[in-house]
Amino acid sequence: MTVVDLPEVHTCSVEGCSYNSDTACHAGAITVSGDQAACGTFIDIGTHGGLSMTLAKVGACHRADCSHNDNLECGATSISVGPGADAADCLTYAPTS
Ligand code: SF4
Repeated sequence: MTVVDLPEVHTCSVEGCSYNSDTACHAGAITVSGDQAACGTFIDIGTHGGLSMTLAKVGACHRADCSHNDNLECGATSISVGPGADAADCLTYAPTS
């Protein structure tokens, strides 16, 4: 896998995130981490940021127990992010067992 092959964040329903606009994530890339596959890039500082013409990629994922995870990178075609156990979780997370 190369950087251009990294999966996109297809949708994100976390309206309060500063990178979110019209259910799309505009960070350059996100990191998924945490006990509940939390989006580590989520931030709510009351102002919009990111890259206006670009959908975020999944730059790294710490959930080695996800069936899509390969060497701490995400091998899914794309992912969805939304509220879960945390304010913003990877909803595509699929545990291996
Ligand atoms: S689908 Fe799995 S490997 Fe991909 S970002 Fe979500 S938790 Fe990580």
